[in-house]
Formats: sequence, C-alpha cells, structure tokens
Amino acid sequence: MAEVAFRQLRKQYPPRRGSAAVEVLKGIDLEVRDGEFLVLVGPSGCGKSTLLRLLAGLEAPSQGQVVVAGRDVSALPPSRRDVAMVFQSYALYPHLSVADNIAFGLRRSGHRRLQQQLQDWLARTTGWLRSPREQRIADRVQQVAEMLDLAHLLDRLPKELSGGQKQRVALGRAIARQPAVFLMDEPLSNLDAKLRGDTRRQIVQLQRQLGVTTLYVTHDQVEAMTMGHRIAVLNAGRLQQLGTPIELYEQPANLFVAQFIGSPPMNLLPVEVLSADQVLLAGKRVAADPSLAGLLQGHLGQQLTLGLRPERLRLAPATNRNLPAEVVQLEALGHEQLLSCRLLDADHTVQLRTAAEVSVQPGDQCHLEIEAAGWNLFDAAGDALRPTSGDAAVASPDLPSLPA
Ligand code: ADP
Repeated sequence: MAEVAFRQLRKQYPPRRGSAAVEVLKGIDLEVRDGEFLVLVGPSGCGKSTLLRLLAGLEAPSQGQVVVAGRDVSALPPSRRDVAMVFQSYALYPHLSVADNIAFGLRRSGHRRLQQQLQDWLARTTGWLRSPREQRIADRVQQVAEMLDLAHLLDRLPKELSGGQKQRVALGRAIARQPAVFLMDEPLSNLDAKLRGDTRRQIVQLQRQLGVTTLYVTHDQVEAMTMGHRIAVLNAGRLQQLGTPIELYEQPANLFVAQFIGSPPMNLLPVEVLSADQVLLAGKRVAADPSLAGLLQGHLGQQLTLGLRPERLRLAPATNRNLPAEVVQLEALGHEQLLSCRLLDADHTVQLRTAAEVSVQPGDQCHLEIEAAGWNLFDAAGDALRPTSGDAAVASPDLPSLPA
C-alpha cells in the first residue's frame, strides 16, 4: 500500500504533422492518501488518462515528479512501479485461459532460470510436477477467482465470457499481483447499465476490503459521486478542485465544477446584491442565505452569479416574492420529475425536481420559490466567493478521515 503524489507534473506531446505541440497536463499537484479511492473526472480530452499513464510509466513526464510511497518513480519502467492498471478494453490475452490471464502478472514477476521456466510450463500443461511457485500461483488464482465469482470459469478463454466476466478477469489480474496502487481507466464503460451498477458496487467493496490506494478515471457522474473517498476534477489539463463528493456538490470551487458535478447541473442565475440579506433576481427582491450576510455586505451593488442546486427551488403559490415562470420541459423519472422552467422576467431557464404526482404540463404558468440556504456565489471570473472567518461563516468542512 502506498500514497501517491504528483508534483508540478506537466506533459507535452511533440508537434505532429500540421499541428503544434500540445500541453495536455499543465502543472498538476495532487496527493492521494494511502488506502484512498480517488476518482479523476473531467470532460473528454482533459488529461485524465494521461495522468494515469504517467503514473503507470506508460508515458514519461515533460516536467515534474510522480511519487509512490515516498519514492520518485518518474524514471522507472512500468514493471518497477508496483502499480496495476485495469483498462476499459479489458486487454485480456485471447489465447490464455481465465486462470492464465489472472496468473499472468504473477508468472511474469521475478526472474526464473530456464530450467525453472520449463518445469513451470510442464507443470501447467501436464498437471504434474507442480513446483512450489506454481502451487502458490494456483492458490492465489483460486483465491482471487473466488473473490470475483470466477472460480467456475477458470478454464474458459476470454471469447467464451460475457463483458462483465471479462471485466472481472481484468480486475482479477490486477488484484492477484497485490500491487501498491490500482489504476482503473473507465473500467465499466463497456458494460450495460445494470451490470455497471453491480460491478461498481463490487469494485468499491473490493477496494475497501483490500485497502489498496486506487486512482479511478471516469466521466460518469454516478461513478464519481458514489465510488471515491475524494474526487479530483480536471479541466483542460488543470486540477479544478479536490474534495469529497459532498464538498464538490455543495461547495464547488468555480463555475466549471458547479456545472460539471451534479445531474442536472447547478442552476446559475445573475443577481445584483441589494443588501446583506437581499439580492435582485429576475426583477424580484429575494431573501438571501443568512450565512452569506457578511459576504454580500462586501459586494453591495455588484453583479454576481448565484448557483442553486435544483432541490433549492420549488413550485410555490403566486406571491410578490416568488418568481413567475413557465414550464418548458418535463422529464418523468418514475419516482420524481425534472422540470425545466423559464423565468419570465429574466429569460433564464432553471431546473428543479418535483414529486412524480405533481401534475404540470409544458406551457403551464407557475411560480418558483427560492430557498434561502445552500447558495453559492461566483464572481465575474467564475470563482466561488466564500465567507471569510470574520463573516457569518460557513466554514469549509474538514476532510473526513479515511475508514480504517
Ligand atoms: P481524457 O482521458 O481526459 O479523455 P487523454 O489524457 O486521453 O484525455 O488525452 C488528453 C489530450 O491529449 C487529448 O487532447 C488527446 O488527443 C491528447 N493526446 C493523448 N495522447 C496523445 C499522444 N500520444 N500524442 C498526442 N496527443 C495525445
């Protein structure tokens, strides 16, 4: 087990025919704790896989360091880094059985004399003369196969397996080696929705059970929010925010994170600060989140962006405080509905959730109440404004410690 650190890590790919050099990672500083499950999320092309590949040793950094368990591994080959990677494509050897795929990394590690290799091969193919080393490998394969419900499939070839089973074999191969760090690059994206849910829970359970430091790349919201102890959000080669799922959801560091985390995303609305307890929103005076009084006082008369999660808005009676709106779209999800409503006096569309039984149709006029809590304010540069310790503060929560 090990902690992992990226220090001022940069990666530039050289120019190719007709295109300039691209800097894919622009100075990443990130520490992953021993035993932590860290999810890396961000839009396609933001550099997530490159970061994993740099850690695995499949790419070399242009600048900066990759540190595993306090040791700078930046210049070491993949085989000496003690990390195991699971790919989206499974990357199984088609001509090897499930057992041999799982055992692959175990057989490869360590130096063996030719005579020993021959003996191992004979033992495998004929079943006789099993060496103590082969016996240990067979025991480990059996143990891992049982953990992943693959014990009845050990003699099959990859082409005789379902997608979910192939993915479990790929996981098994990584687990069998008992590496210091697991790297997983969108391992569930080839699975259908039901299997993805099951495998997601299985990976989380395994990670907690084995306690191996894990970096997991995904672009899937649900995976990001449910799997990791913490999430690192990347955009355009830069780390945007590192925090627990709830921190990112409730206190995004900037507009990018506010829009990227959460589905549907945070509603963003222009407001003018009228006083410490009121803002002007879509032509109405709206009571502000009291915890932001000090902060609003410091921005009197300024235009800011208010970020509100969908659950902070609700359908409400027509009063002179509530905002008149029109329902433009309705998505019935069974247990609830997602409404898109256009604010009549602001030409802004917001999204909110209602109970499944609320009867509304596109085109209906309605009124929206805005909860005076859970507000996020952003400045013109898109950075979150947080109360300072002197304000009526919502202190940023301490990071929870990892489970033992
Ligand atoms: P992500 O995993 O976030 O989708 P990647 O790390 O795979 O993103 O890629 C980041 C960027 O680097 C992309 O624009 C991609 O086209 C570019 N890139 C990746 N590998 C290479 C390469 N070998 N040569 C040139 N550009 C590359």
